[in-house]
Amino acid sequence: MKVTFPHMGNTMVYKKLLELLGHEIIDPPVPSKRTIDLGVKHSPEFSCFPMKVLMGSYLEALEMGADTIISSGGHGPCRAGYYGETHQRILNSLGHEVEVIIFDDFKDDFKDSMRKVWKVKNGKSWAEVWRTLKLSYRMSKALDRLEKQIQIKRAYEAHTGESTRVWEGIQGCFERVYNDTDLIEAEAQGQNAIEGIKLRQVPQEKRIKIGVVGEIYVVMEQSINMKIEELLGGLNAEVERSQYLSDWIDFNLLPKRYTKPHELEILKLGEPYIQEMIGGHAKQTVGHIVDYAQRGFDGVIHLMPFACLPELISQSVIPTITKEWGIPVLSLSIDEQTGTANVQTRVEAFIDMIKMKKSKLLNTITDSQNVEVKNEDLLYWHRRGLSQYQCGCSRQSV
Ligand code: SF4
Repeated sequence: MKVTFPHMGNTMVYKKLLELLGHEIIDPPVPSKRTIDLGVKHSPEFSCFPMKVLMGSYLEALEMGADTIISSGGHGPCRAGYYGETHQRILNSLGHEVEVIIFDDFKDDFKDSMRKVWKVKNGKSWAEVWRTLKLSYRMSKALDRLEKQIQIKRAYEAHTGESTRVWEGIQGCFERVYNDTDLIEAEAQGQNAIEGIKLRQVPQEKRIKIGVVGEIYVVMEQSINMKIEELLGGLNAEVERSQYLSDWIDFNLLPKRYTKPHELEILKLGEPYIQEMIGGHAKQTVGHIVDYAQRGFDGVIHLMPFACLPELISQSVIPTITKEWGIPVLSLSIDEQTGTANVQTRVEAFIDMIKMKKSKLLNTITDSQNVEVKNEDLLYWHRRGLSQYQCGCSRQSV
């Protein structure tokens, strides 16, 4: 089989998994304007933006010789559950002989899921499949550990673009991973490279932390979210995403009693605002905003595909969360019309606003009390208004 898969974030793990199972990999190109144009041309007008980009991406992979597409499905009352079937039908109607294999929850149809596993397993023994799955999972964990450090260091790099270059180099190292020993070596090399990034010294209280939340595809795929993480890093802001591949695996594929995914806590935080599972990651979106507020982040960027109903609902409760938790949130709607300059201007203005607010607050506090202020204290007092700080109450006394 010549296999391709969605281009969503770092594709190294999917690529390695299928390669180790002995498939010929057709690596989908990074989505570009051509990908989007192709997807928009061959998708229903009112389908979600991620579905259009995936359509374009699949068409490009088919041009490169792919005959099988492997992806995951979706649950709940949103359109993600129909993606696979819709892509299959459109691709067939365009004359492509292709099979779209979608892995849904095994509980939905165990027999059909096992038929798909048998096909993708490609004649390998169960022991080999188990080793491959374990290695791919560990790879996803290692890559996420390294990427999280890059997302912080990018804000303070002395030479613009160095962190991004290091991250690209790390992905190159992981290309050569075929067993556990290679993996340990690749992670160590990556760690060394990260520690070699030259940094500017920035006082703790002046550091800015931004969370990025929203629908999984637009959060993870940097080519369609205008490289939001690099943009924020360039504005000296640390970034943390709400979605990482290893977290997704922990929550969706592994028994929760062993992995105890952080997402369960996030869902509890989202519960007061959205009680039902309304599809997509809407509940997680609001839960993550509360989590970031509790952890002292300075602001949140909320990414939503145009016309995504779950994210429209989360957007409607964001003003309440901002009011209750005092955390600013910028919602950006993403579709084929979204322009880089527009996003850049809005994000720059948002970060400027946060910097000004933070420095004003810092000046007021240090002028009035002549005390050293920690970042988390600053956010704490910001959420409760300055008056309590100015009157000399301690955090514990409130
Ligand atoms: S989460 Fe939003 S963008 Fe994703 S499939 Fe559902 S409706 Fe579409």
